[in-house]
Amino acid sequence: MSGSQRYRLRAPSTGRELIIEADPDRDYVDRETGEPLEVVGKVLPLAPSTSKLPWAVENLRFCPWCDQLAQKDLNDCPSCGRRMGPIGA
Ligand SMILES: [Zn+2]
Repeated sequence: MSGSQRYRLRAPSTGRELIIEADPDRDYVDRETGEPLEVVGKVLPLAPSTSKLPWAVENLRFCPWCDQLAQKDLNDCPSCGRRMGPIGA
């Protein structure tokens, strides 16, 4: 199981934002500038999706490519767009 929460982080000087699975108790730095990143907010699992299933744990699977959650009835991962293949194969 994964207890990770995705956060939006921003580099103050460049305004560049990235979304990572972050531990809020850890410090993250921008790879280019080396400055500490500000936590802008949590990312809710509301990726655009053709699935009609709600984002409930029992309806989700992990994409084998990017390890992000996707609804089980989707063929293509809403995070990376790659085909996830059949479940339980
Ligand atoms: Zn994916």
